[in-house]
Amino acid sequence: MGATAKGPILIVEDDASIRELLRDALEQEGLDVVTASDGEQAIVCAGRQRPAAIVLDMGLPLLDGASVADRIRDQYGDLVPFIVVTASRRIEEAASRIRAARYLTKPFDITDLVAAVRDAVEPPPDTAREHAPSPVV
Ligand code: CA
Repeated sequence: MGATAKGPILIVEDDASIRELLRDALEQEGLDVVTASDGEQAIVCAGRQRPAAIVLDMGLPLLDGASVADRIRDQYGDLVPFIVVTASRRIEEAASRIRAARYLTKPFDITDLVAAVRDAVEPPPDTAREHAPSPVV
């Protein structure tokens, strides 16, 4: 855990095999991961600790991805970046509706997903400076 240590990456995916694939790939990157298999579980997980980023499948049981994103934004505003993954052809529409940081269409390359998560949780130094509050002199 370094200076950039934040909450875990929350993976929300109802397909167990994809969920485990994502978990393994992100854990291999040294990231802390929690998982949820449906929308309600996702909201409970996110409520316990603010995730550093959320990998969100849009097609979920109980509560769809868009509703999950709305509920989590109610709590955290824009503090939590979403990386949307879905098999839907309407992914761009879905991603822009929930203001996702990134989106990937299934089937996606796992290395692309890992890169998207890395970008979301570790912005390049220049970007980090832009968003940092001005020093108080
Ligand atoms: Ca799904």
